[in-house]
Amino acid sequence: MNQFQYARPAEKAAAIKSLAKEPNGYFLAGGTNLVDMMKMGLVVPDKLVDINRLPLKKIEKTASGMHIGALASNSEVAEHDYVKAQYPLLAMAINAGASPQLRNMATVGGNLMQRTRCPYFFDTAMPCNKRTPGSGCGALEGINRMHALFGASDKCIAVNPSDMNVALAALDATIHVTGVKGPRTIKIGDFHRLPGDHPELDNTLQKGELITAVDLPVASSAYNQHVYYLKIRDRTSYAFALVSVAAALHIENNTITGARLAMGGVAHKPWRLTTAEAFLKGKAVNEDNFKQAAQIAMQGAKAYEYNKFKLRLAPNAIVQSLKMATGLAS
Ligand SMILES: Cc1cc2nc3c(=O)[nH]c(=O)nc-3n(C[C@H](O)[C@H](O)[C@H](O)COP(=O)(O)OP(=O)(O)OC[C@H]3O[C@@H](n4cnc5c(N)ncnc54)[C@H](O)[C@@H]3O)c2cc1C
Ligand code: SF4
Repeated sequence: MNQFQYARPAEKAAAIKSLAKEPNGYFLAGGTNLVDMMKMGLVVPDKLVDINRLPLKKIEKTASGMHIGALASNSEVAEHDYVKAQYPLLAMAINAGASPQLRNMATVGGNLMQRTRCPYFFDTAMPCNKRTPGSGCGALEGINRMHALFGASDKCIAVNPSDMNVALAALDATIHVTGVKGPRTIKIGDFHRLPGDHPELDNTLQKGELITAVDLPVASSAYNQHVYYLKIRDRTSYAFALVSVAAALHIENNTITGARLAMGGVAHKPWRLTTAEAFLKGKAVNEDNFKQAAQIAMQGAKAYEYNKFKLRLAPNAIVQSLKMATGLAS
């Protein structure tokens, strides 16, 4: 048993201060990822700052869209009436993840921060640059069927495992954080990092910064009619995505006036498909256009020995998600 300090402050400022001088300290939210990693010896903290008493659970409609507190549970978000009505893509993505029990515990902040599910990351006998910088990457020449198609480096080919993050990317979420230097906002596209030379860094949060909320813009709610979150996985539940697609379309008279697309399971961050979105704008709703958009989205994909199947799976998933979103398939 490793000893660590435990604090449970009731105010944000106290929580931030409590972690400020602890290089090896962590905020504890639902604990569904952090406590698992502690049990496996992947994280050996000197201090845990339990943030569950902080007033960060509020989910509310705002003048500019929607505000979701960082401590709102995944279930509370997915079951919220306004989320279901105006941001159904987010509810679908969250409900595609984990299990009801886990979603009751898992928080929005913790989900944004959850670590990769690369098996070599969890096996302390194997090299892993993300766990131990400079040790090598077991997956590069190993069993890499879960791994990335886009944006990987020769230091790390892991993917971000979250479903919620894929929908947040498609919906242009903004993340509110605060630390010893005060509050700031980070666009979801700038929050998660590509691995580059520093795969140990998953995101652009500074050490000790607290995620306080996620905001969704009102424009996202225009994308509430034609949406679908398609998750393809080895089992029908309780499994992480091999590939997932969040699709939301704005359609007028059978013409796509705007498209929001993001993929999961293919990169170190939720992968926004901006070129495919641009292609679809102004196009008619039909399968041929969806296939062309999928081909455009796949440009630049690079597979490894065991994940070549994703080169076919991913474009098929894009087409199918667009068909589901528009009612061309059911
Ligand atoms: C068996 C299993 C299956 C799962 N399946 C899926 C799945 O299919 N899809 C999916 O998306 N997820 C899945 N998950 C992951 C789950 O969604 C995450 O574990 C969860 O979202 C993490 O949230 P948490 O509140 O429990 O975070 P914690 O475990 O408490 O924390 C995780 C990390 O986030 C940090 N943190 C937490 N809150 C904040 C904050 N407000 N500010 C700054 N840092 C913070 C912590 O310090 C820690 O580093 C699964 C998990 C398990 C155990
Ligand atoms: S892919 Fe990344 S997480 Fe997996 S072994 Fe390589 S460095 Fe570690």
